[in-house]
Amino acid sequence: MRLAIAEINLQALAHNLAQVRQFAPDSKIMAVLKANAYGHGLVKIAQHLNAADAFAVARIDEALALRAGGLTKPIVLLEGFFHQDDLPILLANNFQTIIHDENQLVALEQAQLDAPISCWLKINTGMHRLGIAATQFEDFYQRLLATPNAKNEINLMTHFSCADDVSDTKTAEQISLFDSLVATKQQAHCLANSAGIIAWPAGHGDWVRPGLMLYGVSPMLNCTGAQHDLKPVMRLTTKVIAIRDVAAGQCVGYGGRWHSAKATKLAVVAMGYGDGYPRHAKHGTPVVIGNKRYGIAGNVSMDMISVDIGDNSDNIKVGDEVVMWGPELPVEEIALCATTIPYELLCNITPRVSYEYLT
Ligand SMILES: *Cc1c(COP(=O)(O)O)cnc(C)c1O
Repeated sequence: MRLAIAEINLQALAHNLAQVRQFAPDSKIMAVLKANAYGHGLVKIAQHLNAADAFAVARIDEALALRAGGLTKPIVLLEGFFHQDDLPILLANNFQTIIHDENQLVALEQAQLDAPISCWLKINTGMHRLGIAATQFEDFYQRLLATPNAKNEINLMTHFSCADDVSDTKTAEQISLFDSLVATKQQAHCLANSAGIIAWPAGHGDWVRPGLMLYGVSPMLNCTGAQHDLKPVMRLTTKVIAIRDVAAGQCVGYGGRWHSAKATKLAVVAMGYGDGYPRHAKHGTPVVIGNKRYGIAGNVSMDMISVDIGDNSDNIKVGDEVVMWGPELPVEEIALCATTIPYELLCNITPRVSYEYLT
């Protein structure tokens, strides 16, 4: 019997991609597949995103894994290359690179390449992580046009820092700074992540870069995917492996951090931080057993979690399925209980969990 399972619903994935098109009908889609497609399985997910126009990843190894998996779409490296020696690999595999700083530009200018590489010039408009300053833009743009190692179509990109918060004026400022810089340049413009796609239509541009929303999860503060007609792709489940009685006052789990005020029953379930479930999920974080919610009791351990099932009037048994998150229990809600974000929970699934792809 398999215990921890991540069911991956490929119809939900296709639905979510179609939703991206609804939100941004005039933009091409660069599907973001970094970190093992946000924990959903890199190659499998890519194989079912045929309707996307390109893929984007963070690391060259992720892009190489896509090519090894037989995927032929253009692939954009969101952080660019890390050493001049990487450039022939980019060329041989048709990878497109971000150029976000002087070192990368110099490496590209000085390389001996047989053909030009397709480049995206990344401008910092307020995220202050990667990207050239607005004042450097014209100089970088002209140098990219001048080097034979860059294709003449210089695509232009920026990234939002606060797009998940519709009340924050920062995104509008980023859009107007970007627009004012690139106004006279005809090349492709690309600004929006999932939150930008959902909440900031002025930032849709020629290309959009959805990550989280493809997986059916909301990037917006205090929202779930269902509010944007997105469908969760992952359903993380496991099984009950024991039922036990606990007397009033008995401590449960490592550190004895919780005790029940009254006599109760616990279902011990085969899931823990060794599977990627967050250790910081607080006491009472919900799970679903048989269509009903119950709260976890005490600390999450590596392989197990105890769930308070009260008097067990629902007759929960060893072997019953337990849903940790999925369509019936939003991962956004579990993230709040663990004081983190859904991105982290999805990426953290470990190899101990079996994947099942549902078509
Ligand atoms: C991860 C990433 C995205 C996708 O962000 P989501 O919030 O998951 O949609 C887009 N652009 C860049 C540069 C990224 O690093």
